Amino acid sequence: MTLKKDKGLCIRATDYSESSQVLTFFTRAGGKIGVIAKGSRRPKSSFSGAIEVCTVGDMVFSLKDNDKLGTLTEFNPIFFGLEIRKKLFALNCGFFAAELLNLFTKEHDPHPALFDDAVLFLHKLDENPDNKVLPFLILFEFSLLENTGSQPACGSCANCKRKFDADWKQFYFSPSASGFICRDCEAAFTDKKIMTFECACCLNQPSKVLNAQTAALVAVEEILIDYITAVLERRPKMADMVLGLIKKL
Ligand SMILES: [Zn+2]
Repeated sequence: MTLKKDKGLCIRATDYSESSQVLTFFTRAGGKIGVIAKGSRRPKSSFSGAIEVCTVGDMVFSLKDNDKLGTLTEFNPIFFGLEIRKKLFALNCGFFAAELLNLFTKEHDPHPALFDDAVLFLHKLDENPDNKVLPFLILFEFSLLENTGSQPACGSCANCKRKFDADWKQFYFSPSASGFICRDCEAAFTDKKIMTFECACCLNQPSKVLNAQTAALVAVEEILIDYITAVLERRPKMADMVLGLIKKL
């Protein structure tokens, strides 16, 4: 039995027996893994208490090649997200990010750049008031889609390949077409949604969300959640909670 060291972000936590937890971590070097933390819910355990979703830490664990579940032997938190837990929208965004990481990644399939972006997003949730975090949620979702090979086509019409620009005059997004649809092609796509030019520009160039109006950000997030639902063929559990809270920001 060899011990492995990695950085990990806890994306799922389930109580197990009287005092233990079964945890899913998205690790930096090893991708998604499942581990059991024996005795972690005892106050005086070596883990210093139960491990919560959205905590990031240095892990030591053992995992044999064909084991479904490894054993966590050490966990030293480097990010607790204490401020996230005091804010309703930030907390739900953190849970949503954890759910998306779980749904979009496979076990033992590492994405170090996505790990770094996820940790960066948690820091943004921790540091910012709730009314400032929506752009960072959108940037995280783009990173997730890009790193897992599910990026939507927002540079040209997904149907006729005409390059996106202001001359389109009308702008549509179709989840089934996985991207933009121009005015000439829209009639064939029943699931298309019309969007403003500002919304289309944010999808075309995600860094623009940092200077976008709230209405455009809300529209971008609605489109991304519909798109993510189409990619996964099911709606993430946290999606409607997040959309409901966005409207109250
Ligand atoms: Zn077209």
